[in-house]
Amino acid sequence: MRGSFGLTRRSLLAVGVSFAALSFAQAAERAPERAGRLRPIDRRRRILIRNATIIRMDGNVEDLARGDILIEGSKIIEIGRFIPAAGARVIDASGMIAFPGFVDCHRHSWEGQLRRINPNAETLAEYSNATHLSFATAYRPQDIYAGNYLTAIGCIDSGITCVIDNSHNSRSAAHSDAAVEALLDSGIRGVHASGAPQVQDKNYDRQWPGDLERLQRKYFSGGESLVTLRMFSPPNRENWALARRLGLRITTEFQGQAAAEALDALWVDHLVGPDNTFNHCGALPQRTWDIFRQSGASVNVCPRSDAQYGLGEGIAPYQQALDYGLKPAFSIDNETSYSTDMFTEMRVVMMMQRALVQNRRFRGETNLPPAVMARDVLASATLNGAICAGLGDKTGRLAPGFEADIVLIRSGDLNLYPSNNAIGTVVQAADRSNIDTVIIGGRVRKFGGRMAGLDTRKLRRVVEESRGYLFRSIGYKEDLFAEKLPKLY
Ligand SMILES: [Zn+2]
Repeated sequence: MRGSFGLTRRSLLAVGVSFAALSFAQAAERAPERAGRLRPIDRRRRILIRNATIIRMDGNVEDLARGDILIEGSKIIEIGRFIPAAGARVIDASGMIAFPGFVDCHRHSWEGQLRRINPNAETLAEYSNATHLSFATAYRPQDIYAGNYLTAIGCIDSGITCVIDNSHNSRSAAHSDAAVEALLDSGIRGVHASGAPQVQDKNYDRQWPGDLERLQRKYFSGGESLVTLRMFSPPNRENWALARRLGLRITTEFQGQAAAEALDALWVDHLVGPDNTFNHCGALPQRTWDIFRQSGASVNVCPRSDAQYGLGEGIAPYQQALDYGLKPAFSIDNETSYSTDMFTEMRVVMMMQRALVQNRRFRGETNLPPAVMARDVLASATLNGAICAGLGDKTGRLAPGFEADIVLIRSGDLNLYPSNNAIGTVVQAADRSNIDTVIIGGRVRKFGGRMAGLDTRKLRRVVEESRGYLFRSIGYKEDLFAEKLPKLY
C-alpha cells in the first residue's frame, strides 16, 4: 500500500520522537523528525510522573492523593508516594489527576471524515443512509486510511488510549491494509476487528473472510505491537470457526430477538466463549444474558448510540448487564452523529442509570438496584473495556507490570477547580480541554495539552481530499444546516 494513500507513513507523524535531547515541551512542539510507524521503544528509557493524584482502578489497592508513577520502556514499573528519579525524565504532575486511558470497545473508525453529518438521525436506516448505503460504497483504501487515522488521533486527543476498530467496510485487501496502517501510524493501542462491508455491491472484492489470514501474516505475526487483530462478524458458524482457527477473538454487533435465536444455536454447540465480545446487547431475553455470563463473553453497551438511533430498547442495557453480574464496558460506536468523547459517554450512563432507578422509586417500586457510583462508571470506561479488548492483563488500570497507558488532567483548570473528589472530578466534570498528557505504551502522545509530533496540516489535507472525493462521488452537496439528510443512494 506504500505511497498510495496520498501521504506516506514516513511523513505523517513523529510518534517516535526522541526525547533524549529535548525537553518534553520542546518535543511536543517539534515538527516530525521521523514519521510514521512507531520505532521500537527504548526499553531502558524511564519516565517519572511526579506528584499526581493517582486513580489506579486496581482492585483493592488504594488510590494515592499524591504520588509518583515510574515508567520504564512501555510499562509501569512502580507506583508509590515518592520514587527517586534516578535517570528518569520527570513529568511534574502537581495539580493533576492520573487515571488509566479510556478504552472504546466499538468504533467504526473508517467513518472519521463523516463526523456529525447527520446529528439528528433517529434510526439505523438514517445512519445507514449516510454511511453503508451511500459513501461507504465509494470508499477507496485512502479514504479508509483518512477515516481511521482521524478517528485514532481524535481518540488519543480525548484520552482514549485503546480502541476496538469495528471495521465493517473492508472492500478489498488494500482497504484492510489501509485501516491497519492508519492505526499503526497513529500510535494508538488499537484492535482491528476486520469485517465485511455491509453493502456488498460491485465495489467489493469478496476477499473477506479469507483475507484475514493474509492480513494476520502481513501485520500481526511479529512480536509485540500496539495493534492487534480480531474478527468482526455476526453469529456465523463458519466465520467464527475461521477466527478460532487463526486464534482471533470475535466482536459481534448484537441486539434483539433474531440475534438471540442465532446465538442459541451456537451456544448449544459450545461455540460461545470468553473470546466473544458483544456490542449493544439491547432487547435481549434473559436466557441470552445467562449465555453471556456462563460463557465468559464480554459485553459493551452504547449509551448514546442506542438512544440516538433507537437501537434495542433505546436505552443501553447497562443496568441489565449489572443485574446479571457482568462487567459492562462502553463504546462510542461512531461519530457520524455525535462526539468521540468518553467523558460524555460516562456521564450519559451515570445519569441514565440514576434516572431509571429514581423513576422506579418514584413509582413506588422497592428492592431497587443500588445507584451507580462514579467509580463504577470509570471502571466501565477503563478496566471493563480492556477486558473486551482482550487486554485485561495489559491495560485499563495503573499497576506495576501493566502497559503505561495513562491520562493526566489538570484539576486546577477553571471548570474543575477546586477538586474535592478526584473520581468525581474525572467522571462528573472533566472534558477533553482538561487533558494535559496522554501516554500510550510508554510513549508521550500528548503533552501540555497538545498532540506530540502531529503534522496537523498534513492531516487536514488528507481528510479534506477524502471528504471532497466522497461527497463528489455520490453527488452530495454539503449542507451545514441540514436537519435531516435527503436520500443519498
Ligand atoms: Zn456499531
